[in-house]
Amino acid sequence: MWQPHCETMERGALEQLQLTRLRETIQRIAENNPAYWEKIGSPRAEAFRSLDDVTQLPLLTKADLRAGYPFGYACAPQKEFARVQMSSGTTGKPVLNPYTRADILQWAECMARCLTTAGVTREDVIQITPSFGLPNGGFGFHYGAEALGAFYIPAGPGRTLLQLQLMRDLNATVITAIATYPLRLMEAAREENFDFRQTKLRVGIFGSEIWSDELRARIGREMGIETFDIIGMTETGGVGMGIDCAAHQGNHVWQDHYLVEIVNPQNGALLPDGQAGELVVTTLTRHALPLIRFRTGDVTRIISRERCDCGRTHLRLARFTGRCDDMIIFKGVNFYPSQIEQILLRHEGVAHDYHITLAYDTHGNETIELVVEQTNFIGEVERERIAREILDFVGLSVTPNYVAAGTLARPVGKAVRVIDKRK
Ligand SMILES: [Zn+2]
Repeated sequence: MWQPHCETMERGALEQLQLTRLRETIQRIAENNPAYWEKIGSPRAEAFRSLDDVTQLPLLTKADLRAGYPFGYACAPQKEFARVQMSSGTTGKPVLNPYTRADILQWAECMARCLTTAGVTREDVIQITPSFGLPNGGFGFHYGAEALGAFYIPAGPGRTLLQLQLMRDLNATVITAIATYPLRLMEAAREENFDFRQTKLRVGIFGSEIWSDELRARIGREMGIETFDIIGMTETGGVGMGIDCAAHQGNHVWQDHYLVEIVNPQNGALLPDGQAGELVVTTLTRHALPLIRFRTGDVTRIISRERCDCGRTHLRLARFTGRCDDMIIFKGVNFYPSQIEQILLRHEGVAHDYHITLAYDTHGNETIELVVEQTNFIGEVERERIAREILDFVGLSVTPNYVAAGTLARPVGKAVRVIDKRK
């Protein structure tokens, strides 16, 4: 562990620390940003008697943060800013997260813990493939690797053949990426007869996108690595809010830095542990952009607050199953693209890429088309089985169209799975 004392803290002490830091965060907002403080109901820090009191505060949305562009929610003067990251939203104004020097140290600490949790040490060679720029990924891993004192390769995204070459020639042992990038690496490796097992690679740390257990198993098998699921986003201070450990029993959240809740995405009501809903995050140690009850849009549940097999006491979240805004409603059936992916990837010969297109036909009826890439020809029996599983598990009646691998467009950055022409 990077900080055994913090990571194994007894639950009572951990929650007391969270309460103290919640009060400090409220105090910081009250002193530095009157408009923000008013928006959350002008609470007095000393009025917080227990962590449950946080539920009396309103929820903060990404739209709120956007409306505050550029620094409407900042709680430090600009002369204290050391850097800024920007969320990679697709529409509207971006969200900027300014960092003070203290925020950068907080980020480095969280990332060093995450890397250590994935078994990475200063002996490792870390290849960093997320972007070094306004999105937070590249720099998050950079600060974590610096804290560890490990050798790292700031490769950045793309140039997949060069990535494979560097991986082999520089003896990379760890690769970090957005979760669908390993698919590009695997694809390029097959074309080039590049064998991951001839490299020193042993660990993959992936995040920023929903990736199913089935995809995870496939990446682990093809690349011959152990994979770890890292969480965190620009708004919360970047990648590194938590990660899963060698026990792979859910993603630990660094509770001394973050207070998390699960709410009903429809009405914002708090949900009990175990029930799936939207992840809401309150930051406890961020200075320039402290968040109070920020709605992340990620769908998950709290698996356990008990001590994990790895010895850590910080609570565990289930791997994210979708984004609230990714939920598709088709002819009254609610589903997430990840549910389709889980079914597809169980079948040999089905490639990783698929598109779901929703539209209206000339009579105004909703239509769905599912196009799936195949690496081997999918026979009739298998096709029927896949269609039946989609009906049984998702409730959708759809017959996929199979096309050759490489047919579907491959965007740079996050994968596009759904094209909704109904909007
Ligand atoms: Zn653990």
